[in-house]
Amino acid sequence: MRNSVDRAEVVIVGGGLLGTSAAYHLTRAGVTDVLLLERGELATGASCRPAGFLNHTRSDVSTIRMIGRTRAAIKELEQILGESIGFHQHGCVRAAFSESREEEMRALESVMRGAGLNVHEIDRQEATARVPWLKLDEARRTIFVPEDGYADGALLASAYARAARLAGARIQRGIEVTGLLQEGGEVSGVMTSKGVVRARWVVCAAGAWEMALAASINFGFPGAPTRSHYWITAPDGTSTAGQPNVYLPDFRAYMRPEVGGLLIGLQEPLSRTYDPMQLEPDMNDMNLVDETADTDMLLEHAGALKSVAPRIEEWGFAHHISGLSVYTPDGKFVVGRPAGTEGLVVAGGCCGSGLAGSGGYGEVVASIITGQPSEIDASVYEPNRFGVVDPTSQAFRDRCAVARAGKSRGNLPPGNK
Ligand SMILES: Cc1cc2nc3c(=O)[nH]c(=O)nc-3n(C[C@H](O)[C@H](O)[C@H](O)COP(=O)(O)OP(=O)(O)OC[C@H]3O[C@@H](n4cnc5c(N)ncnc54)[C@H](O)[C@@H]3O)c2cc1C
Repeated sequence: MRNSVDRAEVVIVGGGLLGTSAAYHLTRAGVTDVLLLERGELATGASCRPAGFLNHTRSDVSTIRMIGRTRAAIKELEQILGESIGFHQHGCVRAAFSESREEEMRALESVMRGAGLNVHEIDRQEATARVPWLKLDEARRTIFVPEDGYADGALLASAYARAARLAGARIQRGIEVTGLLQEGGEVSGVMTSKGVVRARWVVCAAGAWEMALAASINFGFPGAPTRSHYWITAPDGTSTAGQPNVYLPDFRAYMRPEVGGLLIGLQEPLSRTYDPMQLEPDMNDMNLVDETADTDMLLEHAGALKSVAPRIEEWGFAHHISGLSVYTPDGKFVVGRPAGTEGLVVAGGCCGSGLAGSGGYGEVVASIITGQPSEIDASVYEPNRFGVVDPTSQAFRDRCAVARAGKSRGNLPPGNK
């Protein structure tokens, strides 16, 4: 910061995928007096941990458009920076083994087609040609979504940040925002570890710490820090680069190639949530793993997965990665202006899809601030849609954990078995 009282048109709190994307999209929309404040280093919270899936299978058109904007942004960033961001667009094979998952899949397909995506059924032969380790003899329906792929979260966040900086945004690390400045119903800046920054707009993109920041103006942000985790198997030639992602909702499992092995994610029926007021400031200092319970879960799933991945017992599970995303009770993002508050935009509740949705988040933030139109109907992400919320309450956190369980099925409403 330049001095102890600074000023900017827009201050963004948080240098993860959502904050850096907001900075990039604001500059893209012509707002260049942007100051992003990050208390640590860029992309060291959730954004260096994503499994990287950029899949479009969602139950609403808005979210598909949010994800489409990320793909478009990646192309723009590659042009601006003159380098590859490493988006592996090799599609996704998605298979349903039960009648209810097949019905859900057909419903999701029709939403995707309505949004203009090219999704089609494939036969067993094509599926095996695309993913040799996968055995789909018992599958009732298998589809392929060519636009899906995967990318690296830290690389993408760094690209958003660098492109924003090239366009004039200031990005400052090592500065903690200690609270929002509120005068009447208006948020007019932030208090930081280095002084006050006044701003016409404040964008809160603080990831798992968003609820604590929102609490500084008594807004109950509707999300719960929720643990996600996945394993990576040792490189043994099971996968080759160019193979697609795999989603198996009946098994609550998803996979993709990773340096000759596989990245394997499994979703618990009820994921672990955390009290948002009790988080360490650095995600690396949080102990999110319970080796005994997590290994038991892996073994249980491995038994079931044997029918579709016959060689699973030979795979060496080399790495176990975990981190916190923020889930909402309906499994949908939160981005917009809290009711009754001027000058504030909240961007969070990523529901484990903040890499995929990052471009859309940025566009919606820019559209709210500039008034420029967007193709994304952000009304589904309205911050007050759950009424008054206490994000610390166990009952609220449980609702969010249930929503996470529906993610492998395209975020269909909780309870839709
Ligand atoms: C294990 C795992 C797997 C995942 N897999 C996928 C996937 O396959 N596909 C996908 O799309 N998404 C995935 N995600 C989700 C994705 O990683 C997140 O949605 C995304 O990183 C969220 O970005 P963010 O900017 O909201 O949060 P973060 O990256 O956590 O950034 C928030 C930043 O705000 C900073 N901050 C907080 N408070 C303050 C403050 N008071 N002052 C200053 N700075 C502050 C923090 O230091 C942090 O850097 C996964 C997440 C996890 C944990």
